Formats: sequence, structure tokens, C-alpha cells
Amino acid sequence: MADKIFRVNMSDLSASVEEVPSGWMGLGGRGLTSTVVAAEVEPTCHPLGAGNKLVIAPGLLSGTQAANSGRLSCGAKSPLTGTIKEANSGGTSAQMLAKHGVKALIIEGLPQADKWYGLQVSAKGVTILEETELVGCGNYEVVEKLNSRFGDKCAVITIGPAGEMKLTAANISVKDPGSRLRSCGRGGLGAVLGAKRIKFIAIEATDAKVDIAKPEAFQQAGRAFAKALVDNPISQALGQYGTNVLVNIINEAGGLPTRNFTSGQFAGHESISGETMHDIIVERGGRPKHNCHPGCVINCSQIYPGKDKKYLTSGFEYESIWAMGADCCVDNLDHIAEADHLMDDLGLDTIETSVA
Ligand code: SF4
Repeated sequence: MADKIFRVNMSDLSASVEEVPSGWMGLGGRGLTSTVVAAEVEPTCHPLGAGNKLVIAPGLLSGTQAANSGRLSCGAKSPLTGTIKEANSGGTSAQMLAKHGVKALIIEGLPQADKWYGLQVSAKGVTILEETELVGCGNYEVVEKLNSRFGDKCAVITIGPAGEMKLTAANISVKDPGSRLRSCGRGGLGAVLGAKRIKFIAIEATDAKVDIAKPEAFQQAGRAFAKALVDNPISQALGQYGTNVLVNIINEAGGLPTRNFTSGQFAGHESISGETMHDIIVERGGRPKHNCHPGCVINCSQIYPGKDKKYLTSGFEYESIWAMGADCCVDNLDHIAEADHLMDDLGLDTIETSVA
């Protein structure tokens, strides 16, 4: 069971391991990150100042065999909205943190020196490392180099140049099982990590198991839950066309954000729809079904190749496609995919950037 809080204070570069307060034991993911921010962050603090805290938490069932339980939640006072913000993503970090027994990682304070740091997480706690090599690097390069440094199976949370520059559209990126990127997108939380001068968090790979009090009952409930997900027609549509299945549906309903939100229907909707995306991926030998973390039974992600049939982007979501497509009057999926790849590398959120 995840029963430890790992706390890092960047002001004095210290790290500690704490017991989880009893009131937080039944919480995980978004519920936990928002509760910690509400309890520990002064509402009037500057989001990029020493008073803000970035809280990272796996879900309650992360690290177990429960289907779709590997999402990671990040929370802080947002530099974009000034309020409590939560953003979450897939990737391998949530499951790895939970297997190390980490209920939440809380990062507070600001370093005194003009230096950058990386955090290395294991079951014993957090080690703060000075970092120079990866500063200024895009997220793809960061993941590649951390794979060499810590091994291919380590989990990685990182910020790109946008986070280093503390842009309010900066996201927090999370390595997926194929060493590609998923994003905790909204609210500029990458800027909070950048303000704390943390370029990456590397989580040691482990095969440790999360303790289950009643394994048989858990397995039985897990099977019923997975079956309910797999049998649901919405899950099946998501597995076939990804979240981009929504383009045609929402366009038909008149709610597709188009031309900077001045219209709800886009003439080029067919060219950027989930159905078209599926056909392009199949024709180019990509993967129309893909999971953002091990144990997902829906597989709404996909690997989208370019015209040269090489990897271009993955996790090509409805939100990115309406934002960089219909809302910007772009009706070419390859162009949107190229922009998606660039933004993943820079660590920029596709929605916040496109609607800015
Ligand atoms: S691949 Fe899609 S359905 Fe599966 S966990 Fe990730 S976001 Fe959810």
C-alpha cells in the first residue's frame, strides 16, 4: 500500500519521508493533490514563489492489477488561473511511485542558487541531484538521456524549455511505456516545476508489489470492472478512433470549437476526424490502438506515423486536434501532428497555446 509522503524542500535542498495523515489515507490522485494544495498552500502566494507547492500523486489503485489505474495527478496553485489546478496523464510514473509506497510527492520552496536540479526517487526517498547536461533540452532528448543514465525502465517526469522559461502554457511531461510522452497539460504546472528549478524527476524501476488485503476479492472485483469497461460501447469507440471520435459528433451538434470559438462547425471536420485519423494510421503502418500506461483495457491512444511511415506523434487527442485544427482553421492532420510533436518536445500544452 502506498503509505508514505515524500517531501522535498528546494529552499534548503532537503528531502524527508513522512507518514500519511489519517485524513488523507482514503484519497488518491486528484482528490489528494487538491486536498494537499488546499491544506498547505497559502491562497494568496505567488504561484511561482516559494510558497507554492507542487504535489504529485498516483491514483488510489495505481500499482495494482486494476484496469486503467495508472494515471498520475499533479496539483498546485496555477500560474495561469491563480486557483488550485489539477492536471493528469498516463505514463509509467504513477505505477512506479505507488510500487515504491509513495502516496504523494510534495515539492516546496525555491532554491537559493542559480542552478538546476533533478530528483531521483526510490523506495528509500528522494535524492536531489545538480543538473547541467539536460538544461535547455527538449523532452524527447531528456527521456532518451535519462534512459541511458538510469535504465530503460525508469519512470520519468520532465519539463521542456517552456517549463524552464516558466511559461503559463508549460506542461509537465511523463514518459510512457514506449519512452514517448504524455502530458499533464492544463494550468501551466510545468512553470511551477521550472520555478523550483527541477528539470526532471526520475523514478527508479521496481517490480515491487502493492499489498492487497484481500487478493481474491480484489481480483474478482478487478475482473468485473475490466469487463464493464471493455463491454461499454463508448470504450469500444474510443479504442477504435481515440478521443478524436468526438470531432464528427461534436461538429454535427454544432459545438466544435472553430475559428477561435466564433463557430461550432468546421468545414474541414472530415479531414481531421477520428475516422480519417484511423485510416491514415492503418495505411502508414502505425498503431490505431495503444495504451498510455500498462493495464489500460480501453486503448484510446494511438501511434501516428508521418508520410515517411516513421513515428510522428502519439496520444493524438481530440483536444489537441480541435485546438490546433478547427479552432485555428487547419484541416490537415499531418500538420497538426507535427505541431503536436513539437509541443510535446517543448513541453507546451496544445490547448493553452492554441487558444492564447
Ligand atoms: S490510453 Fe486512453 S483510455 Fe487508456 S488509460 Fe490512457 S487515456 Fe485512459
